[in-house]
Amino acid sequence: MSGLDIAEAYLNSLLTSERASGEELDAYQSRLLQRLAKHAFEETPFYAARRVAPEGLSANSDFWLAQPYISRRDITENFDAFRPRSFSKLHGVITPLTTGGSTGPAARRDITSLEAVGRLLASYRMYHSWGLDQSRPLFVFRKLRQDQPRQEIWGFPWRDPAERGERLWIDIATPAREQLEQMAGRGPVYVNTLPSNILRLSCEALRTGTKLSIPFIVSVGEYLAPEVREAAASAFGSTIIDAFSSAEGGVMAVQCPGSGIYHIQSEQLVLEIVKTDGARAKPGETGEVVVTPLYGYATPLLRYRSGDFVVAGPACGCGRVLPAIASIAGRREHMFTRPGEAPELPKIDRFRLMQTIGHDEWLLAQLSEDDMEFRYAGSLTASQEQAIGEHLHAVLGGRLRSRFTNVEALPLTSGGKRHFTLNAGVLPPA
Ligand SMILES: [Zn+2]
Repeated sequence: MSGLDIAEAYLNSLLTSERASGEELDAYQSRLLQRLAKHAFEETPFYAARRVAPEGLSANSDFWLAQPYISRRDITENFDAFRPRSFSKLHGVITPLTTGGSTGPAARRDITSLEAVGRLLASYRMYHSWGLDQSRPLFVFRKLRQDQPRQEIWGFPWRDPAERGERLWIDIATPAREQLEQMAGRGPVYVNTLPSNILRLSCEALRTGTKLSIPFIVSVGEYLAPEVREAAASAFGSTIIDAFSSAEGGVMAVQCPGSGIYHIQSEQLVLEIVKTDGARAKPGETGEVVVTPLYGYATPLLRYRSGDFVVAGPACGCGRVLPAIASIAGRREHMFTRPGEAPELPKIDRFRLMQTIGHDEWLLAQLSEDDMEFRYAGSLTASQEQAIGEHLHAVLGGRLRSRFTNVEALPLTSGGKRHFTLNAGVLPPA
């Protein structure tokens, strides 16, 4: 069997497992979890003191629930302790990944070939379930890195290359006008990018009257606000497929074409949604995502606290048994806090603010319980300031005093992200 045959067989197995029974899916996941835990406990110094996992370990067992969480700090301060002394050649070679850095120190996390293939296959399942036309051009607007291997066509690699669409890689910091120019004249195209770039592209297209057809946009890496979804629909006729993903966890959950809720990729990871009291969130309740990537043999992360908050989902009616996330609530450091209230993302309208200001170099920061600061680059007229102030007053209920602070520049993060809100009183996640 060639590598391509194996990849195709794996996709077919994922299309079967997502419609298996809940018991079958649990058994599948448990086998992988058992192997990963054994590997981590036996081969890595970080977990060496842990008691050996019992046979039949599952993500709902008392043994698993008693395992302590790990955090980004554990990895940044103690990376070498996560490196396994050995692992099976079946996992292939190790490649380092640098994660984040925008909200704390950059962390390293290694990935094996097998885990990288697993992540790809989660994308292939998404292409399949959304019925994407794999002959169309796909524009990938991301932070490009020198050492990154780049495929110039996309779609299932076992298909005839002549039937697969071109994949064009463009750095996310490219001005929106130039991004739009690159896509022009090709008929309908697909896009894969971050929500902040979807916002920039949509605003620029609407401002200049640029007509482009982008039937599907895959959104990754940041919180996707509802108004950004609407802006892309209005600018390009786009449907956005939101993939809940991170460098540490990979593709963790993908929107369902039937219901729009997010299916957890349970064949590849254990995703727990944990409330502040430590209990698992029930449908409709919000909690922090604690993730265990099941093929993470190079840097085993058992119960990694992600800093991402989500609302636990109901069972989906589409026939897939994969558990669901109802919606993404945001990252902790972007949420505003008030005594006695659960932290939440301020419900600012990014599209409206961007249209008012004319660019996206701005940030709303909560400095303390009652104070917030609107930081912006460039200049604002009195009427712009007034419009922004009125919007903030309307959405934040006038609870917070606001001030405007001009800053020299607000560059994108090292990963090409744009954060529009910040809880400046909150430390980066531990
Ligand atoms: Zn579904």
